[in-house]
Amino acid sequence: MIPGSFDYHAPKTLAEAVALLGRYRDDAKVLSGGQSLLPLLKLRLGSAAHLVDIGRIPDLEYVREEGGFLKIGGRTRESALEHSELVRRKYPLLAETADVIADPLVRNLATVGGNLAHGDPANDHPATMLAYGAEVVATGPKGARTIAIEKFFTGLFATALAPDEILTEIRIPVPAGTSGGSYVKLERKVGDFATAAAAVQVTLGKGGEVEKVGIGLTNAGPTPVRATAAEQFLRGKKPDGAAIAQAAKLAAEAASPSADRRGSVEYKKNMARVLTGRALTKAVARAQGA
Ligand SMILES: Cc1cc2nc3c(=O)[nH]c(=O)nc-3n(C[C@H](O)[C@H](O)[C@H](O)COP(=O)(O)OP(=O)(O)OC[C@H]3O[C@@H](n4cnc5c(N)ncnc54)[C@H](O)[C@@H]3O)c2cc1C
Repeated sequence: MIPGSFDYHAPKTLAEAVALLGRYRDDAKVLSGGQSLLPLLKLRLGSAAHLVDIGRIPDLEYVREEGGFLKIGGRTRESALEHSELVRRKYPLLAETADVIADPLVRNLATVGGNLAHGDPANDHPATMLAYGAEVVATGPKGARTIAIEKFFTGLFATALAPDEILTEIRIPVPAGTSGGSYVKLERKVGDFATAAAAVQVTLGKGGEVEKVGIGLTNAGPTPVRATAAEQFLRGKKPDGAAIAQAAKLAAEAASPSADRRGSVEYKKNMARVLTGRALTKAVARAQGA
């Protein structure tokens, strides 16, 4: 289908882009990789009178460690994560997430900032960023502010970004040496959105007990889900089979998926349990250096 008509803007600076968003407010949309926005406009599930393309603004595409964080520019493409040696070596949860998003064609265009800003609980990065305890940087007319990822997803397709703010950076705390992570996704076919998926990031203490753990679930409710009861249960415990099984059960209890072509509520909750168990097992093995 053909989208409704819109004015296309291609600002060359961040300030110009923010000013355009401020001028047109709810009539404007940021255009990044276009992999979610353009299908929505074409299917007429959404509309915008003004598209503000942020693709010509310099310095929004990078992946680097700095000041205790892995910093990802808001317009960094999925393919950049996929091919980053640093990400593959030190951030397996992030690498595994990028690997299972759509297909290579989409990943060459889709951006990490867009994946979060879209506010779609079926997208893969939200759960991963919840597990990492990440924060995002939003730049607006008054400058930049940071938003904890837990406060970022405010509803179905809704985020804490104001209409005149651009997501300019994602910050993941650099994990301690005894850390490991994993993303495990069930999809009907390669490239599909998740039937269910679990993101786990864990840090072990000196005695092998769980010191820090983050668990996020994809497509498990109207917003991305953080399995806080499961995290709380694991903290301070040895992550053996019984503890992992109980944590996985608690994670599934935090899920409130809806039934659709991908399965019933019961099936999806059970998959959330199974996948959390697998992701925890893998993350713990990585943290143990296996
Ligand atoms: C065939 C196909 C399969 C897909 N499969 C998956 C999948 O398996 N997993 C998955 O997670 N996703 C999947 N997607 C969705 C898509 O990959 C992501 O949503 C994508 O990462 C969005 O990024 P984008 O840069 O393309 O955003 P856009 O489409 O440009 O924008 C999406 C939304 O976010 C806003 N936005 C974008 N960037 C910013 C910013 N920097 N600041 C403020 N607002 C912003 C836009 O205004 C818009 O509302 C798939 C898409 C397609 C087409």
